[in-house]
Amino acid sequence: MAMTRLTDIPSVGKAAEKDLKALGASNARDILDIAPRAYEDRRRGRRLSDATVDNPVIYCKIEVEKKSYFPSKAGRTLRVECSDENGDRLSLLCFSRDYLDKMLVIGSMWYITAKVQKYKGVYSSASFEIKKDPKELLFGTIIPIYPLCGNLKQNQMRHIVKAVLDSYSPIADRLPEDIYERNGLMHHDQAYHLLHFPSELEDVKKARRTLAFTELFRLELEISREKEPDTKCRPVITAKEKALIESLPFSLTSDQLKVLQEIRKDLDSAKPMTRLLQGDVGSGKTLVAWISALHEIAKGGQVAFMAPTELLARQHADGAAQLLEKLGIRICFLTGEVKNKSRALLEKALESGDIDLAIGTHALFSGKIKFKNLKYVIIDEQHRFGVGQREALKQKGKDPHILMMSATPIPRTLALTYYADQEISTIKTMPAGRIPIKTYLVSEKKREDMFRAIDVEFKRGHQAYFVYPRIEEDGESDLRPVKRMFEELKTIYPPISSAMVHSRLEEEEKNRILADFKNGKISYLVSTSVVEVGIDVPNATCMVIEHSERFGLAALHQLRGRVGRSDIPSYCFLVFSDSLTEEGKERLSVMKQTNDGFLIAEKDMAIRGPGDITGNKQSGFMKLKHASLVTDQDLILLAKKEADRIAKEDRGLLKAENAVLRNKEG
Ligand code: ADP
Ligand code: MG
Repeated sequence: MAMTRLTDIPSVGKAAEKDLKALGASNARDILDIAPRAYEDRRRGRRLSDATVDNPVIYCKIEVEKKSYFPSKAGRTLRVECSDENGDRLSLLCFSRDYLDKMLVIGSMWYITAKVQKYKGVYSSASFEIKKDPKELLFGTIIPIYPLCGNLKQNQMRHIVKAVLDSYSPIADRLPEDIYERNGLMHHDQAYHLLHFPSELEDVKKARRTLAFTELFRLELEISREKEPDTKCRPVITAKEKALIESLPFSLTSDQLKVLQEIRKDLDSAKPMTRLLQGDVGSGKTLVAWISALHEIAKGGQVAFMAPTELLARQHADGAAQLLEKLGIRICFLTGEVKNKSRALLEKALESGDIDLAIGTHALFSGKIKFKNLKYVIIDEQHRFGVGQREALKQKGKDPHILMMSATPIPRTLALTYYADQEISTIKTMPAGRIPIKTYLVSEKKREDMFRAIDVEFKRGHQAYFVYPRIEEDGESDLRPVKRMFEELKTIYPPISSAMVHSRLEEEEKNRILADFKNGKISYLVSTSVVEVGIDVPNATCMVIEHSERFGLAALHQLRGRVGRSDIPSYCFLVFSDSLTEEGKERLSVMKQTNDGFLIAEKDMAIRGPGDITGNKQSGFMKLKHASLVTDQDLILLAKKEADRIAKEDRGLLKAENAVLRNKEG
């Protein structure tokens, strides 16, 4: 019988069980998936002269030459001097190990592993193991070094792994035979043995590849099998949707049409939708949201649209009013700013069902608001909301359909794990006629040229944004603040109207300024990154970001997306200071190279790691044991291909050759 519980493993008691759990193992079988974090190659000896600062561990044969005691805190401590086969000398400091005095007879030969230090040409060690038999020190093998926790020790961990391996041997296959063959994978028994106890370091790579593939494949298979089979059913496009689409001065892009069909299908099915709609800034997600809202409203449901800021909510409400009110849709706008009587009226209308579409901030989902029949919730810029807020909003309806929109594209690999529980619709093509934004990296010395170039744009009647990392002067730093630059820019562009926007302005003031910017009364805005999200002013053609190295890739991409929203050429100027870090340099060069938000997201993940991207290191992020979302891109594609094939051919995993896949655990 194979061991099942952790405490079934010899020498594992309650304390070790706790430590192993902290390492991610909940049962004995899980131990096999604790991958060594490194390996120590003890096949060839390492003598004293091989020790380096980076790798101070030696394992070799020594001869005991001299013993003495020196005074220490413990009273006195044994010092044993010995030499290796090169004749190099090592001092062993035997703290609390007086028993070694008897054992280490002068002239005797021993095998040792030690972490050594070199000081003034003399090697010493206080951390060593010493044995007569080289096998006891695993000489001649490659030994795994495990991640540890609590009181666990490397030796103990190796014994635990060995015991579990023996108990499970031979480890059963986890993939159908042809998948092993086609993808050049090892069988799992071999892979697990070589992961933990390789005979060549090359073995580890191959073993890891198999285990990473399996992990990704199983994930992909689950996702593929859960997807509704693509029935030929075509959702009906309702009269109002048609009317809206026909009223537009442009036609929808093929991706907009595609994602609309995906969403309509979900809205028509009995299962509540959880779908992420991702597409670059300006790709036309909002329009998709309105059309899909009409689809649900036609069935008598209420729709709520939530934006992360007051400002955006207002902009969306204005846009929706323009497009939808003429179709007889009853819209309301609700934020924290709407108070007293008008709020009471809105609350009543929502509860009685006199409103079809409610647009607002999270105020929509504050305690008092009740909907008569909330069927569909749309969340704009979903990454701006916490999980808690999303949950609160779900509670307002009875399992409403949920569409989350994001202009921060998620790399496919990350989407697979972090967003594994939701469907994803993607808009990749931009509306026709858009000209790619031209991005310039501007050094401090070239700022004057930049200001002149922007002046030309002003003369053409175009508008601009100037973005700075902070609002006010800060004694410590020489960053240019919004307030000072607002004054400075006035002297550079004396006749041109401008305004300052930042988070400390009153909501009303901010809205007034943005309205004036939108209708052209104001030619440029000086701001912090508050303009980052969603603001839509097609006539603005210049985005200047000073101290741009201070901004993350996602923020830079969002900011740049404020321009290039029409068929006029647009420019983004990223001003950087002379003290650029390597990472800063890398970010700016990515920005210069591409406008593609998906590519930028991939690069961002490569630079920062996936945890940071979700901004959500712990919650929900599925931990992979063997695969890496950053470096295993090729495996992800292979795994997906195989998983999609199986899901298509044998969704129920009924075929004999797919029987191994029915067992979800090891
Ligand atoms: P997103 O929300 O994805 O950032 P928006 O929905 O705000 O993008 O769209 C940006 C602008 O492009 C809007 O002014 C919108 O009217 C316009 N737009 C949307 N779809 C199209 C299209 N198919 N062709 C041309 N313009 C479009
Ligand atoms: Mg938007």
